Amino acid sequence: MLILISDAFDASLPGKLSKYGDVTDDKGRQAEANVVLIRSKTKVTKEYIDAAPNLKLVIRGGVGLDNVDLVYAKEKGVMVFNTAEASTVAVAELAFSLMIAITNHTVAAHTSMAEGKWIKKELKRTELMGKTLGILGIGRIGTALAMRADAFRMRVLAYDPAVFFSDFADVRPTLEEVIRESDYISLHMPLLDSTKGLINKDMLKLFKDGAYLVNTGRGKTVVEEDVVEALKSGKLAGYATDVWYSDPPENSPLIGAPKTLFAPHIGASTKENMLRIGEIVESLIRENQDALK
Ligand code: NAD
Repeated sequence: MLILISDAFDASLPGKLSKYGDVTDDKGRQAEANVVLIRSKTKVTKEYIDAAPNLKLVIRGGVGLDNVDLVYAKEKGVMVFNTAEASTVAVAELAFSLMIAITNHTVAAHTSMAEGKWIKKELKRTELMGKTLGILGIGRIGTALAMRADAFRMRVLAYDPAVFFSDFADVRPTLEEVIRESDYISLHMPLLDSTKGLINKDMLKLFKDGAYLVNTGRGKTVVEEDVVEALKSGKLAGYATDVWYSDPPENSPLIGAPKTLFAPHIGASTKENMLRIGEIVESLIRENQDALK
């Protein structure tokens, strides 16, 4: 059996998997591969699957499966799994850290000091305590964020078409209701036809003046041009994002826009998460060994 590690995983993974077969990171061996391990970079399209006639199993280290043609994989008998639970804490902690950093001007404070400037009077911080956080998509990550916000004494609202109750958030029946009441909106829904471009200029009109938007879900759930307009007009006080239309972003209007805070899609990239992902990948290969013969 040949296992192709196509994207970045923990360095311990090849050693862990070597008992199940040959392990390679040589993408030139795609045609021979029985198992392909991906994160977000490799796109398992129809063409990719057609070019891998021995492929039986794709494992996505992470949550979103929007880079896999699930319908075609099924048609071709290729099993597809993700490691959905592994990344929850890593992403929730990043979402929270973006929320803290953007309201405390952490980056401006540091860069101004590093440049020899003293801008104490200009840096006006605000507190999270007592503010309302609206979570769109209260699944695993949204819930983990809600728990952290609760510890910071925030009021937490949520909207999710599949969730009607949460121990950690006041779940509201409509998206609009959550958006209208929130000082912070954090996005945690998957990229679907129904969520693509959901945060657009019409939706942004419903935001509170001076609200903050945090996105560690998927870049394409917002319309970047409309977010930039809202930042310029002051409708949004800030946009913090880890996720983009493409990795890395190409010609994004956000680059250079005011009141932004960026990360290069590192939501899942903690040491602990990489180890957890490795454990789940190994168990998926072990459990499916018979089907891979
Ligand atoms: P999850 O499936 O547990 O939760 C997603 C929730 O979104 C579900 O409860 C679903 O019902 C809800 N949802 C669907 N459509 C919605 C809509 N229109 N409005 C509001 N909610 C909607 O998934 P999760 O583990 O919490 O991950 C959430 C997303 O985070 C993933 O789909 C992925 O896109 C993203 N993610 C990003 C990173 C990163 O590196 N930044 C890492 C992991 C996951």
